[in-house]
Amino acid sequence: MSERKEYSNGEITVVWQPGKCQHAAECVKGSPNVFRPREKPWINVEGGTTESIRNTVHKCPSGALTILEDSK
Ligand code: SF4
Repeated sequence: MSERKEYSNGEITVVWQPGKCQHAAECVKGSPNVFRPREKPWINVEGGTTESIRNTVHKCPSGALTILEDSK
């Protein structure tokens, strides 16, 4: 089973699958306050708007980052 981590802001859940991550850092460039490689946990979904997080996640070249819509 591959590892996955989930981070929710109440609207969306950012899913990160470390096994797929190529460390291309597109996420860090796109939303540096959300994707912070030196922090733990490294993803802080409070660091940006839902829309900006969506845009950044879509730029992840490896498919390591995906978004789930939270049910309201
Ligand atoms: S953009 Fe995707 S592949 Fe690149 S570091 Fe972020 S999660 Fe990993």
